[in-house]
Amino acid sequence: MAEAAAGKKVIVKVKRQATPKEAAHWEEFALNWRPSMNVIICLRDIAENPVTSDGKPTTPITYDSNCLEEICGSCAMLINGRARMACSALVDSLEQPIRIEPLTKFPVVRDLSVDRQFMFESLKRVKAWIPIDGTYDLGEGPRMSPEVQEKGYPLSNCITCGNCLEVCPQVNDHNGFMGAAIFSQVRLFNMHPTGKMHAAERLKAAMGHGGIEDCANAQNCVKACPKGIPLTESLAEVNREAWRQALFGWLVG
Ligand code: SF4
Repeated sequence: MAEAAAGKKVIVKVKRQATPKEAAHWEEFALNWRPSMNVIICLRDIAENPVTSDGKPTTPITYDSNCLEEICGSCAMLINGRARMACSALVDSLEQPIRIEPLTKFPVVRDLSVDRQFMFESLKRVKAWIPIDGTYDLGEGPRMSPEVQEKGYPLSNCITCGNCLEVCPQVNDHNGFMGAAIFSQVRLFNMHPTGKMHAAERLKAAMGHGGIEDCANAQNCVKACPKGIPLTESLAEVNREAWRQALFGWLVG
């Protein structure tokens, strides 16, 4: 393996942007190939030796990452034009040169690091949590049927990576569509026995500006989700519940 690896290079092109206001430019790097390299390892190698393929010294690339196992959601970026997690993007499965860019639906902070605040503000708007009235011991919560648990578990796997927003044509500066992940959380918390108490408020928010009505059913979201969350099902269900609430003013539990 050592001989096979000797001299083998990985060519990586990274879109750089020093500040949100500065123009972006590309830099190319030639890295030493190793088995099982992923895109994060490429970015780490560049940080260890920030020199472009034509020998020019540069700065390490700024990017977000944490868990390195598709759990934290922070290393989402465009890799060869596809929104995905850098930690699970294996170099050997990618066409070279590997083009790495920041997600485009969020403001760039620097290089590959973006500000996902829009998502977190949207989650706040739809009250994507179970309210409690204190931190003292409230005792056991209500029991959930295995059927509800089975339905809710996949939805709870959302890592707020933003990939579903990235691929959605409706998430843009004009209409403010909150994105599939947000409505999937509305569905999750509305199916929870305690969360249900605030279902009407969540649906009201889901019907407001950037709400469920702006979904144009492109269905890109479900393909881009690294956690396999049934986003189109969530969108359809929240849409149904929202209409029911709008028409009849009551919720079906
Ligand atoms: Fe990422 Fe999937 Fe959550 Fe969207 S729903 S933010 S793609 S994990």
